[in-house]
Amino acid sequence: MAEPTDHEQPSLFDRVYADYKEHINPPLARFMKIAGAPVEKRALGCRVWDTDGRSYLDFCGGYGVFTLGHSHPVVVAAVKAQLDRMSLSTRVFFNEQMASLARELAAVAPGDLEISFFSNSGTEAVEAALKMARLSTKRVHIVSTQNAYHGKTMGSLTATGRDVFKDSFQPLVPEFEHVQYGDLAALDRALPGAAAFIVEPIQCEGGVMIPPDRYLRGVRDLCDKHGALFIADEVQTGLGRTGYLWGVDHEGVVPDIMTIAKGLSGGVVPIGATISRRDVWMNAFGKSPLMHTSTFGGNPLACTAGLAALRVLRDERLVERSREMGEYLLAKAMELRARMPDVIADVRGRGLVVGVELVSEGYAGVIIPECLRLGMTAAYTLNQQRVIRLEPPLIVSRAEIDEGMAIFAQGTALAKEKLGKLAS
Ligand code: PMP
Repeated sequence: MAEPTDHEQPSLFDRVYADYKEHINPPLARFMKIAGAPVEKRALGCRVWDTDGRSYLDFCGGYGVFTLGHSHPVVVAAVKAQLDRMSLSTRVFFNEQMASLARELAAVAPGDLEISFFSNSGTEAVEAALKMARLSTKRVHIVSTQNAYHGKTMGSLTATGRDVFKDSFQPLVPEFEHVQYGDLAALDRALPGAAAFIVEPIQCEGGVMIPPDRYLRGVRDLCDKHGALFIADEVQTGLGRTGYLWGVDHEGVVPDIMTIAKGLSGGVVPIGATISRRDVWMNAFGKSPLMHTSTFGGNPLACTAGLAALRVLRDERLVERSREMGEYLLAKAMELRARMPDVIADVRGRGLVVGVELVSEGYAGVIIPECLRLGMTAAYTLNQQRVIRLEPPLIVSRAEIDEGMAIFAQGTALAKEKLGKLAS
């Protein structure tokens, strides 16, 4: 058989797409292709380049992972140096990087949270928190919120509040209950005898839902009243995303257990952490130190990245920047809403997590691919596809926000035109 000519060689996109379709996730591959997703090649700061050399402003930000932007040079250099020394832990020796990161986290975490369990993702951080709560209180019932997102492994999925992700896996973990987010009276009724209440300071995946004022203070009081632990899931809101170091700082509240992941290693190495009060941890694991473990959790590469990321967050004053740029982004999004009330139903946010709620899901399905075509990433929130999240890196500049929002406005106008034509 004749060799295929150059002309007949599949393109790089075709090869990658075929591999996704054959070996990864056929329906997702098709969906991404229809949405116009290219193949990513490299990324720096707020920009990503595809394999054709086109650049995109990254306003999806890995769903909140890239707090420091992509490939922050300080974090990358620290990780490269550590890679030359040792990448994964022996687990039988003490590890300096894990020790230092745990100490630093204790220093910056709210109140008296001081013992860290390290893992590799948000869902693992949540699993550890749920297990710790049950063991620590010797109670089993866990209260969570409707429309919450805590991950997709069995325990965190049970805490998650969206049925489409859960129904096929019933029965899930027993003794979980969901109350309405923001409703303290419902929480008061659910908490007697419960081990814990797990809640996000802002429901990012739920559509960037911001709770009523003083909600988290009320949560703290009710957990104290009923002897239940308060687990703050800061996987997405933590480390400056909301314009505060922690989402709970907005109300000056200290939870008993806090879960962290996305931004913790500056978007360079996967990591998760569950940080708790000493007494909570000791009651759970004081007599059984190997009860909950992770082979890769707290590895030297991830912890080196975490230490460098915390340094950058501090040195570049990114929490303050998140607040300042967040106000600017929100104002721009509100301006757009005022111009297009027939497409945009609501805009809300805190710091650099802004949700744009559209009048129907159909709009998001057109706006996101249009923005991509015009050179900007954006994404749905996982539990509410009518809401597009804007979560640029905390290093984003005013000029980049102007550029991003100009693209978003153009994408929205194009979607309106397209859907208008379809309807007429
Ligand atoms: N908790 C929250 C609040 C999240 O936003 C997410 C991810 N979007 C998770 C947990 C799960 O994190 P992961 O995808 O890393 O498992």
